[in-house]
Amino acid sequence: MKITRPSILFPLFSNLTSLPGIGPKIAEKLSKKIGNNIIDLLFHLPHSVIQRLDTLELNNCPSHSIITKRIKINKHLPGYYNTTKPYKILGVCENIEIEIIFFNFRNDYLKSKFPISSEVIVSGIINWYNGKPQITHPDYIVKPEDINEIPKFETVYPLTNGLSNKILRKSIHYALDKIPYSLPEWLPSNIVKKNKWLSFKESLKYIHSPKSMYELNLSETCKERLSFDELLANQIGLSLYKKNRKIKNLTAVNQNGKLFKEIIKNLNFDLTNSQNQCLKEINFDLNNNTQMMRMLQGDVGSGKTLVAVSAILNIIERKKQAALMVPTDLLSVQHYKYIKKILHKINIKIGLLTGKIKQTEKLKILKDIKIGKLDLVIGTHSLISNDVYFKNLGIVVIDEQHKFGVEQRNKIILKGNNVHLLLMTATPIPRSLSMTMYGDLDISIINEAPKNRKPVITKALPINRYNEIIEAIDRALKKGEKVYWICPLLELSEKLDVVALKNRYKKLNTIFNKYNPVLAHGKMLKAERENSINDFLSSKSKILVASTVIEVGIDIPDATIIIIENAERFGLAQLHQLRGRVGRSALQSYCILMYDKNINDLGKFRLETLKNSNDGFYVAEKDLELRGPGEVLGTRQSGEEKFRLSSLKDIRLLYKAKKSADEIVSNKPSIKEKNLNILLSIFNKDEYIKLINKV
Ligand code: ADP
Ligand code: MG
Repeated sequence: MKITRPSILFPLFSNLTSLPGIGPKIAEKLSKKIGNNIIDLLFHLPHSVIQRLDTLELNNCPSHSIITKRIKINKHLPGYYNTTKPYKILGVCENIEIEIIFFNFRNDYLKSKFPISSEVIVSGIINWYNGKPQITHPDYIVKPEDINEIPKFETVYPLTNGLSNKILRKSIHYALDKIPYSLPEWLPSNIVKKNKWLSFKESLKYIHSPKSMYELNLSETCKERLSFDELLANQIGLSLYKKNRKIKNLTAVNQNGKLFKEIIKNLNFDLTNSQNQCLKEINFDLNNNTQMMRMLQGDVGSGKTLVAVSAILNIIERKKQAALMVPTDLLSVQHYKYIKKILHKINIKIGLLTGKIKQTEKLKILKDIKIGKLDLVIGTHSLISNDVYFKNLGIVVIDEQHKFGVEQRNKIILKGNNVHLLLMTATPIPRSLSMTMYGDLDISIINEAPKNRKPVITKALPINRYNEIIEAIDRALKKGEKVYWICPLLELSEKLDVVALKNRYKKLNTIFNKYNPVLAHGKMLKAERENSINDFLSSKSKILVASTVIEVGIDIPDATIIIIENAERFGLAQLHQLRGRVGRSALQSYCILMYDKNINDLGKFRLETLKNSNDGFYVAEKDLELRGPGEVLGTRQSGEEKFRLSSLKDIRLLYKAKKSADEIVSNKPSIKEKNLNILLSIFNKDEYIKLINKV
């Protein structure tokens, strides 16, 4: 069934060029940054509003503020047209001498605009130089009787290359007129009432074009409503999708498969209760008539790989193929070796496919995948490329899933029919947030570490206790253990940071020369960096001095100390990830957070949080409290839903939307199907509409 957009929305989805004043050139610029349609322009919200007419006394107006003042013109000091010498106009305002300055303006134009001895109203940005106010290139110059030509309020938009606020304001003004009057209210009336929200149309109008203080004051409420609409559409989509996927079949069994039982027998450890629980949940999906779409969350080192192996083997047992996709070459090799090792007793064909494989070998692997000779392929993004054909793909496992976008996820599961999907992530996402953000997925959680692990001991030390740290490192190295030393490498201070990192490396190299320290950071050639990490992995080197390039998933069990220098500059989630590089064996491990004496309260709080807890979910909740859902998701998601109206600052709004969506999908309160269509269509969720009647 082809879904057509409700006709009432046609005006909003017509091309921007249908607006007066938008020609192909502007439309092209707009389409790059904002979108092609009128609705996209309407969803480009202003970040602030200038109140031009509400100006303080001149004496109290700070530099860079916008003022609107009546100025008595006294004198013209002409510059020379087309030179750098400005044209100055001197006047008096509130008994203070003021200069109005123009570069490259025609003298005759300025003379007519500012007749000597007359009064002129000027609006623009003021700057104070040596105690004298100046306005350069005012935004408005009008005669006192024309003061109404200056708008009371002016919206300011996030700027897009080559598009001025003026153009945006004008186009949006026309766009607002395209919102149909007969657009129905789709939100259940009790929600609208309770929150004192206005209609969709009014909300957009008040935000883009406030006409009074009253309307201006409502703009936050209006933004909240629009934000809710967007979140609601998203949540309804997820909810419909999930419900539709579930086909209940109570005869499902949740026993482990034969092959995996064989594997467990040969392990020299028991699975944790959490691992067993996750296996049950996964087996239930696989034995059921559903397509599994599950996210497995578990802290670093919690043993997710084995759980994935179980799912993979169950599928292989049914004569289907499995794919395991990971974000880096290094990780794919690591998984390949690990899985080969634990599966060596059973007869399973495993292949490795990365961008690094030689062409001849690659062709062979591609062929083996296609004819079904390989049971399991482990690889990077290479697995998605168009030349990969599976004979009979049954399951896809994606590790470190947050490094992939939704499109990549979809692309690989489309390489088979009804492919089961298992996503894995080591960054614990607070339960509340994952329920809302991944509402279409089921979630399994490993929340305990293998029993043989000792919790990592975390200490925070000021940089001046450097010598103690060096001694501790020395002791560990003498015992044959390995050490990570991490320094920040931030985009903003990249050059300085690289220098600091190299200096640290030099110093450690002098002290611990016989342990052959190696360097790895994001600004090095990839090959050099990989050499360093490989040397550390193979114990050729015992010290890895690195930026956060080692953050993702590296498993080097005999590394027992991680020093994080300038720990106050890292985020909570990142620190926790880094800490997870150690504590991966039965050896006691340490995480030393070195901080600068200028650490601020927020920094202190972060270090305290880590010191007090090894629990990734606890750390994630704290991170969420500190940064809000937008930031938490923003830094981890590469291709997840991007919201246009919701800044995701307010988690309560997200919960509200989730709750309403679930209620709407289960039909209480019922909202008219026609209205649901409109809501979903406005936010480009048309694809879900066909599910409405199926649920
Ligand atoms: P992660 O969840 O970070 O991906 P891995 O799957 O890489 O963790 O497991 C880390 C290490 O712990 C591996 O060497 C694995 O064999 C081992 N491991 C997994 N489960 C257990 C367990 N129940 N008891 C002891 N060690 C385990
Ligand atoms: Mg892992």
